[in-house]
Amino acid sequence: MQDYWQNYVNGKWIDGGAGKLEVINPGSGERYGDIAMANAADIDSAVKAALACHRSGVLTAMRPVERGRLVRGMGDYLLANVPAIAEMLTLESGKPYWESVIEIEGAARYFEYYGNQAETVEGRSIPLGGDYLDFTIYEPFGVSAQIIPWNYPLEMTARGIAAALATGNACVVKTPELDPISNVWLARAAEAVGLPTGALNILCGYGHEAGAALAGHPEIGNVVFTGSVETGIKVAEAAARNVKPAILELGGKSGAIVMPDADLDVVMESVRWGIYFNAGQVCSAMSRMIAHEDIHDEVLERCVALAESLSIGPGIDRREFGPNMAAMVSDGQRDRAVGLVQRASEDGVTVATGGRKLNIPGSFMEPTVLSGVTPDKEIAGTEVFGPVLSVMKAGSEDQAIEIANSTEYGLVGGIFTADIDAAHRAARRIRAGQIFINEWFAGGVETPFGGFGKSGYGREKGREALWNYVQTKNIAYRTR
Ligand code: NAD
Repeated sequence: MQDYWQNYVNGKWIDGGAGKLEVINPGSGERYGDIAMANAADIDSAVKAALACHRSGVLTAMRPVERGRLVRGMGDYLLANVPAIAEMLTLESGKPYWESVIEIEGAARYFEYYGNQAETVEGRSIPLGGDYLDFTIYEPFGVSAQIIPWNYPLEMTARGIAAALATGNACVVKTPELDPISNVWLARAAEAVGLPTGALNILCGYGHEAGAALAGHPEIGNVVFTGSVETGIKVAEAAARNVKPAILELGGKSGAIVMPDADLDVVMESVRWGIYFNAGQVCSAMSRMIAHEDIHDEVLERCVALAESLSIGPGIDRREFGPNMAAMVSDGQRDRAVGLVQRASEDGVTVATGGRKLNIPGSFMEPTVLSGVTPDKEIAGTEVFGPVLSVMKAGSEDQAIEIANSTEYGLVGGIFTADIDAAHRAARRIRAGQIFINEWFAGGVETPFGGFGKSGYGREKGREALWNYVQTKNIAYRTR
C-alpha cells in the first residue's frame, strides 16, 4: 500500500526540499503515511512553472467553453473515484466517511459550477461618442496562490482552483500540514483531463516556510487564503509588500437567534448540522445559539439530548449519515477545544453536557453544550473550532441582535422564527456576510460567502468569486 506521497510541480511528482512530514490518522492516533514537504525553493519552482504556463497563453488562448470543459472534467474525475478518495480523506482528517463523500461531491460541484461560468465572464462597452469605440475585457491575474486549511482540504482547494482555472489563471496550492494527502487527487484530475502543464501545482509544506514563501512571492498574481485571523494578517501583509491582492476567508463565532415562534424541530435539525458536522470544525459553524428566554430552557434541553444522542468513534466505521460524529483533526485541536471549555467552566459557564476528551486512542471530543454563556465571557467571543455549542439567553429581539453582533467576527448569522418581518429585520441588522433564515447552511456553491469584520474580506463561491481572479482592462479606440 502506498504510504508516501509527493508534491506536484510542472506536471511532475517531486520530493520536497524540506524532507517529509508524517501524517497521523486522528481516528486511531496511528501513522497514516508521509507527505513531501516543500521548501521556499520548491515554491519558487512552482510559481515559475505556473507563470510560464500563464505567459505561454495556453490557458487564455483557449475558448472559454473549452477551459470550462476541462474544469468540469476535473469534477467528473473526482466523482468517478469517490470510494478511494473518501477513504483517504477520512483516514487523514478524521471525519466520518459519509462526510468525506459529501466533501468530495462538494468539491466536484465547484468544478461543475465554475466550469459552467467560464464562458460568462463578459466585458461591456462604454459609449464615448461617435469618434470612439470603448470596451472592457477581464484578464486573469496570472498565478493564483491558494493557501488551504485542514478542515475541508479537498473542497477548499477545489473552490479556489475551479474559479481560478475557469478564468484562465494558473495555480499554486499550498496544502495543510495535517491532512494534505487527498489533494493528490486534484493533481491526478488535472492529468486525467489534460490540463496544460504548469497550470496546477500542488505542494505541502510548513506554513511559516512554504506558505510564507508563496504569499510573499513577487511573481504571484493574487493570494487566496482560508484559515485563522492570525495567519491571514501575515498573508495579507506579505502580499501587500508586493502590492498583490489578497482574499481572506477567516474564522467566525456565528450566532443563531431562536425566537419563541420558531419551529423547534427545524432548529434542532440545524443544530445537528450547524455545530456537530465535521465535529464543529467549520468556519461558519453555529457556535452560539441566542435563545429567547421564553423557549430557552426547552431548547437547551433539546440541544443536550441531541448532543448525547450522537455516537462517537472512528470515521472510517461511520459509512452512513446518522446520529454519529467522528474525530477532530488532531490531538492538538482537540486539546485546545477541551481547554477552552475547561476555562469557560472556571469562568462560571455551565457545561450542560460533554466537554471532555474520550478515553480511547484518537482525537475524540464529546459533543458539548454550554449554558449560561453571556457576552462578557471569553468563550462567547472565541472561536473553538470544535463540537461546542454556547447557548445564550436574550429577553427580546433587540437584545438577541445585540448579542449576535457582540463579537469581532461577522462570517454568518441566522434567525429561526415564523415571523417574516422579524426575520427580515434581523437579516438587515446582523453584521455578517451571509444570513440563514430557518435553516443553518442554507445556500450552496452559487451563493457568495465571506466575512464582515475579522472574518475577512472578499467573497468565495457564487459569481462574486470570479472577480477575485480577473482584473479589468479598458480598451479605448479612436476611430479614423
Ligand atoms: P491556519 O491559519 O493555521 O493555517 C491555514 C493555512 O495557512 C495552512 O495551510 C498553513 O500551513 C498556512 N500558514 C500558516 N502560517 C503561514 C504563514 N506565515 N504564511 C502563509 N501561510 C501560512 O489555520 P488552520 O489551523 O488550518 O484552520 C483553522 C482556522 O481557519 C480557523 O480559525 C477557521 O475558522 C478558519 N477557516 C476559515 C474558513 C473560511 O472559509 N472562512 C474555512 C476553513 C477554516
